[in-house]
Amino acid sequence: MNFRKTFRVIQNPNPEVLIVTCFDPRFEEAMDAFPYEVLHLKKGAFILTKPGGGPTPLAYPVKTPSRCKAAAKQIMFTCNKFPSIVEVVLVSHGGKCGYYSTIPHHYYEDGMEEDDLSLGGSLMQIILPKHRINLYNAALINGGRETEFRRVPISQEILTPPFDWKKSYQLSH
Ligand SMILES: [Zn+2]
Repeated sequence: MNFRKTFRVIQNPNPEVLIVTCFDPRFEEAMDAFPYEVLHLKKGAFILTKPGGGPTPLAYPVKTPSRCKAAAKQIMFTCNKFPSIVEVVLVSHGGKCGYYSTIPHHYYEDGMEEDDLSLGGSLMQIILPKHRINLYNAALINGGRETEFRRVPISQEILTPPFDWKKSYQLSH
């Protein structure tokens, strides 16, 4: 028989917050709750995206410029598509993100995701100066059985975006 199941469609959503995190399923339960219990948002008030590695490519504009550019442009595209977005929240996670093994000549050190998040936040603040940029790391605690969200400050270090970010918001450029 034909399968059918009906769900409500959110009418005229007005997302105010874009959340970018990693697809790592270890953090699925935490990330499902994050928009509601940490940011206190309602359904339709946010867009949550989970590319592999989450915001980590933003911290590597020199080592992996094309990935950094792709990640930044996806965020720019979303903010352009939804002018109601005023805040971008980047969320990294502990426990060695699998993305790190894909960065050439990269050596993972425990806890480095917080520094990378801080750098990535700095890059996004340069690219999107009118948006609020907020950073959280989902750290592993209790022997890896639980995760705890911690605010991370934006780095004072200035990264140079690996593309002409002022020129265009189009993904194809
Ligand atoms: Zn990850």
